[in-house]
Amino acid sequence: MPGQFTPRARKVRVLATLGPASSSPEMIRRLWLAGADAFRINMSHGAQADKATLIGHIRALEREVGRPMTILVDLQGPKLRVGQFAEGRTELTVGQDFALDRAQGAGDRDHVHLPHPELFAAARPGTRLLLDDGKLVLRVTEAEPDRIDTRVEVGGTLSNNKGVNVPDVVVPMAALTPKDHSDLAFALDQGVDWIALSFVQRPEDVAEAKRLIGGRAGLLAKIEKPAAIHRLTEIVEIADAVMVARGDLGVELPPETVPPLQKQIVEISRRYGRPVVVATQMLESMIKAPVPTRAEVSDVATAVYDGADAIMLSAESAAGDYPEESVAMMDRIARTVEADPMFGARVHFTETRPDLTTADAVAEAATAMAPTVSARAIVCFTASGSTARRIARTRPPVPTLVLTPEARTAGRMGLVWGAHGVLTKDVGSFEEMVAKSKRMALRHGLAEAGDRIIVTAGVPFGIPGATNVIHVVRLTGNELKGYDE
Ligand code: PGA
Ligand code: MN
Repeated sequence: MPGQFTPRARKVRVLATLGPASSSPEMIRRLWLAGADAFRINMSHGAQADKATLIGHIRALEREVGRPMTILVDLQGPKLRVGQFAEGRTELTVGQDFALDRAQGAGDRDHVHLPHPELFAAARPGTRLLLDDGKLVLRVTEAEPDRIDTRVEVGGTLSNNKGVNVPDVVVPMAALTPKDHSDLAFALDQGVDWIALSFVQRPEDVAEAKRLIGGRAGLLAKIEKPAAIHRLTEIVEIADAVMVARGDLGVELPPETVPPLQKQIVEISRRYGRPVVVATQMLESMIKAPVPTRAEVSDVATAVYDGADAIMLSAESAAGDYPEESVAMMDRIARTVEADPMFGARVHFTETRPDLTTADAVAEAATAMAPTVSARAIVCFTASGSTARRIARTRPPVPTLVLTPEARTAGRMGLVWGAHGVLTKDVGSFEEMVAKSKRMALRHGLAEAGDRIIVTAGVPFGIPGATNVIHVVRLTGNELKGYDE
């Protein structure tokens, strides 16, 4: 029924990558109206100055519509690349020898420069090097400090600066390249909400990035290497959010292993209450066509049924011919899945036992009470956003209205399942808490006269980390009259 669902009533979030096809203020606005809850800016392409313009457009829209916008800046990370060829490319045939070396100068049919000293230390006979998104495969026959000899197992054309994936070993590389350090400083200076870290290999990579960020943004760890899978739980624990980065994951591991890994990563992230994004090729054919394949629709639906916090568009919204249609299609798929009477049962198939804390007791209780009292929404007062994430973790059947005095916290909510962030002054008394909850629920269209809402907060007020109150109230409809925020 048209108009029955607003985009923000949908619980799974839509993360849309911006790029050449979606960099105008008008297109960003259209993507937001079509259902994008958060925007991703990919530092692998383009200059900082252009990204600053893009961020400016998003913040202008934020002021115009009076809703916090969520911006995620995705750092390129230590992506390995071969050097260049005298003729721009070479043709590699199965069974031939091919060397990667540290000699400067142009490559040819026998060798190419590899500008990554770390790889020479990590490679062993038998190690596979996957080139150009796995299209070509080389097997190491001998590794020396300044030269790696290989045999070509899968041949083809290799051209300048193509990517190299090394799934078999942990490459002793820093989590952030000099470019990442510069891009990170830029992003923090711009006040973005989330930073995504690419090619995470170890929990230490995440810890290092978190130390550099120092709480100024949330840190999302992209899971796209087998090494990260081996230490998944530790990585999820340290990270603030997680991405199932299926593109590179499906290059480094056989593609058929990606679906079970997606389920595992989503489940562990949900267990720890970390927002989890499912990404890459979700509506790939919509780069060129106005409608997706049935298989793509099914893939998006699966991620929603799995209980992912967010689903992502990459080239579909960044560089395709149908950015707005792609967002609208994701929105429709997600709303349809969430309206399935079986959705609740399916999403709770993943069991998430609470931590033994007061905050989790309150979160679990609020979610459990919602159907009993026919509540329309849960209202949560939070400074850090922690209570909101603990509530989202329980996947409540109703939206969560997150009231926070921290702009930073409100801005991060665009990746959190079912959360509707609102920046507002803190409350100082129980009466104020009740009045504000009612007023905000009405104002944001989450409840009407006669509806009940469930309020959670920490008493005494103004002390972080003390969520300990749960309160059920009924709206009369007269609450809109009140002082302004
Ligand atoms: P990317 O990350 O688009 O930055 O490569 C996502 C992925 O690998 O799936
Ligand atoms: Mn990737």
